[in-house]
Amino acid sequence: MSQQMCVHLQDLSKSGKTWQWDIPAERLMSDEGSVNPLEGVCHTALWQGSIEYAHGIYTLSGMWRVTMVRRCVRCLCKFEWLAEQECQRKYSLTEPQDMDDEEKLDIEVIPLSDSLNLMDVLREDIWLAWEACVVCKETCKGLCQGCGMDLNQGDCQCHSLASDHPFAALAAMKFDK
Ligand SMILES: [Zn+2]
Ligand SMILES: [Zn+2]
Repeated sequence: MSQQMCVHLQDLSKSGKTWQWDIPAERLMSDEGSVNPLEGVCHTALWQGSIEYAHGIYTLSGMWRVTMVRRCVRCLCKFEWLAEQECQRKYSLTEPQDMDDEEKLDIEVIPLSDSLNLMDVLREDIWLAWEACVVCKETCKGLCQGCGMDLNQGDCQCHSLASDHPFAALAAMKFDK
């Protein structure tokens, strides 16, 4: 299986190009290409797709799946964040004609002398899908505000005290300062 990541669009045959690659984590974190390396990739990633040509436009449709070590914003533990997304791009070798400005925005012009680096496309797409706040699981209970205990591990002292405490109801109320 060859991983010819750089594609000269003008050389694409009529049948286009399809690929299905397993990309080693180290490669996504290396500094090849022109997009910033990814961080914390922990398994082989999947990158598959195709490029088809019609009426002057090269349409890339693909999907990727990557796992990265991230930190949960609630409980602060590290976990494996699985991201999976579809990727749609359009390219042209020349400034597209007969299109309104909005349509043109979707099309990236690649000069004839350049090639399209599919590794860059993949990493750019993963960065775009990056979510700043991720949780280890939707039901993550996070840390206790009082003692800092991870509430996924069980109830802490503050919680068991709070419910019997005569002022427990007050704790649930909000006061204007
Ligand atoms: Zn968590
Ligand atoms: Zn606590």
